[in-house]
Amino acid sequence: MSSSADRNEPILLRASGLAAGYGPLQVLWDVDLEVASRECVILLGPNGAGKTTLLKSLLGLVPLWGGQIEFGGSRVERLRTDRRVQAGIAYMSEIGVFPNLSVDENLRLGGYFLPRHETRLRAQRLYAKFPDLVQHRRALAASLSGGQRKMLSLAKAFMSGPRLLVMDEPSAGLSPRYVKEVVATLDGLHAEGLSMLIAEQNLGFLDLADRVCVLDSGRMRFSGDRSTLERDDVLRRSYFGLEEPSRAKPD
Ligand code: ATP
Repeated sequence: MSSSADRNEPILLRASGLAAGYGPLQVLWDVDLEVASRECVILLGPNGAGKTTLLKSLLGLVPLWGGQIEFGGSRVERLRTDRRVQAGIAYMSEIGVFPNLSVDENLRLGGYFLPRHETRLRAQRLYAKFPDLVQHRRALAASLSGGQRKMLSLAKAFMSGPRLLVMDEPSAGLSPRYVKEVVATLDGLHAEGLSMLIAEQNLGFLDLADRVCVLDSGRMRFSGDRSTLERDDVLRRSYFGLEEPSRAKPD
């Protein structure tokens, strides 16, 4: 897999001391997170760890209780979501598309703040990049296969011309074959220099990682390279579900 990140690349996203939650429930506790230009960071963590909450808080979809977020050198934590998207952060949620809208309508929504001619131009470029979508451009997103829907949600996120693509479980609902296809597509985008932050539990995505972060119970437990994570017994067992043979319990 390609790795386009370089240790000397500037930091694109820097979040520090993030706290967030819902009503009385605090979910994120003093979370720090960085993504450099051209870097792909994979965010691991068990169900309920707060991965979605963290990603949404970066976009302003969940209000922050505390902390700050810098993107491209400017503070963005007080900006509305659409301003953060215009600044260059795109978000791909688990669902990602509007099923009752056509492929074309979904794409245009991704670039809703662009002038019309620019929307048309970018859509044309994206159809060239995702040729499988062209023949379905008038079909409802609901009629697409799981893999095609995922490609549409990627293309939709791309309409805004992002510098950082933030993705929540792109493998959700996909067969292993399509997971491979999505990983290959993301690998290509990464090689072109796109920065990515991907919350995932599917280990196939680790092949894309320049760096891995582990969130547990709303706290960042680890940030480092994949091999360091795999060498750490506790983290390995917790997040990879791997037992060492000598310590595995008998049936
Ligand atoms: P998963 O992998 O299962 O999606 P996650 O790591 O993405 O988990 P979150 O979805 O961020 O975790 O959830 C973190 C905690 O916040 C959980 O306890 C969850 O029940 C709670 N939570 C999430 N969304 C809401 C909400 N809208 N209102 C109240 N609590 C919520």
